Amino acid sequence: QGQAAAIGNGDADGTKQAAHFVFVPLNELGHLIPAVDTALLLATHGAVCTIVGTPSMAARVRHTVDAAAAGHSGLPVRLLEFPLDYAAAGLPEGADDADRIDPAYMINFYRALALLRAPVERHLREHAPPPYPTCVVSDIFNPWASELAAGLGVPRLSFFSMSAFSVLCQHNLERFGAFAGVEDANAPVVVPGLDRKIVVTRAQAPGFLRGIPIPEWEALADYIERARAEADGVIMNTVTEMEPEYVASYAAARGMKVWTVGPVSLHHQDAATLASRGNADADAAACLRWLDGRDPGSVVYVSFGSIVQASPKQLVELGLGLEASGHPFLWVVRNAGAYDAEARAFLDGLQERVSGRGLVVRGWAPQVTVLSHPAVGGFVTHCGWNSTLEAVTAGLPVVTWPHFTDQFLNERMAVEVLGIGVSVGVTEPITFVAKEIVVRRGVVEQAVRSVMGAGEEAEGRRRRARELAAKARAAVQEGGSSHANLLDLVKRFGTGPAASQV
Ligand code: UDP
Repeated sequence: QGQAAAIGNGDADGTKQAAHFVFVPLNELGHLIPAVDTALLLATHGAVCTIVGTPSMAARVRHTVDAAAAGHSGLPVRLLEFPLDYAAAGLPEGADDADRIDPAYMINFYRALALLRAPVERHLREHAPPPYPTCVVSDIFNPWASELAAGLGVPRLSFFSMSAFSVLCQHNLERFGAFAGVEDANAPVVVPGLDRKIVVTRAQAPGFLRGIPIPEWEALADYIERARAEADGVIMNTVTEMEPEYVASYAAARGMKVWTVGPVSLHHQDAATLASRGNADADAAACLRWLDGRDPGSVVYVSFGSIVQASPKQLVELGLGLEASGHPFLWVVRNAGAYDAEARAFLDGLQERVSGRGLVVRGWAPQVTVLSHPAVGGFVTHCGWNSTLEAVTAGLPVVTWPHFTDQFLNERMAVEVLGIGVSVGVTEPITFVAKEIVVRRGVVEQAVRSVMGAGEEAEGRRRRARELAAKARAAVQEGGSSHANLLDLVKRFGTGPAASQV
């Protein structure tokens, strides 16, 4: 059961209590990393933060949380671990790692998470050291946190590391029934209710968690939507100045307050802590040594995040495209050991041929550290929102290569709204489609050349990316929008005389 070190009340006079946020993140790195960053940010601004999760989740972020708690600022953050009841949820023993979970057990996994509610609530009520929680901040995939908050008698905010643009597009497509009567999942449809024309297909934006062929999934998606609609507000890892109209429209459409607090990756001041974000074993020194030897702005960084695994055929086409582009590249191949001997031999051969010009990182790269190195000039991304925002924060143009979920909408945002991206032209998600989608080497080569090359269009993308980076940095400084929103959260969700609840 949960173990935590005692953390002080934050206020010695006993008349008011510091805000105490209980984070309930999802054990999946694209969700977990920004949730932990947000908790650390709130703690920096005076709140107490408890992060609740399974042992496997805690193992991924314990080094970050412990460093923040033990560091010179001694932030009031703690991790509470609760084991899953595998048997009760019909889940194989040890299967609580969302990255490796078998789709056949996905529903059981969410069921097992929901079973955490009672022990978490009991612990927070009866055993946890003070202060008593004042607000639950839950990942949208943990709808059961609404019952946790109700049981504790406190408000609940939902947390998204998503752009306001993508959640607004999805919300409008659903509330205006934009796909009603559209038989063809690949037919173009204009997103209703926006100031600009954005065209998507149902395959690209099927509805939040909709169209997934797993039994009972629709019921889970309904539960998640209900919990989102009934939240007391939203914390988003985005920057208001980057998308002001979409932040405002989403808040209005949902009828709830939206606190934008991004880019949360900027929170990390310390190089070692930043480099180990998401993975304590990342070899930052090797990446930095290699980057130090490259010209400023010359390297294209290539990564598809923490979930996407390219097929062996795609791996080869991508590698040959990067080689043909003639540009230096740092390519992260996730889970490289899982490829067959042929694909592994291809990577070895490529690394040999491009030695000095290309670096293949097998496994995990310290992404934000790499992106902020002056040698990096562009990013080939799958358009996960964290990666997209991290590219913006580093002032980099992107080659957009969406695979699933909100990534197609993030691509629209990067290419059409922000004007910093070149698409490789993928039009269908790779999940649940019968045919194999492979982007050919020539397309990769062309997209990399156009993002990394000279010329007016490429310069324009770079200039806009730099302008956005300046806005992102300003947002987290004192007086900036994200900074002000963090202060507001800490104030509103404290129970002091000056605090007001939403
Ligand atoms: N990331 C990293 N190193 C890697 C791969 C990913 O640090 O080798 C981090 C990346 O910086 C980002 C997160 O993992 O913060 C991935 O989130 P994103 O939303 O981009 O994609 P997802 O993994 O959810 O598809």
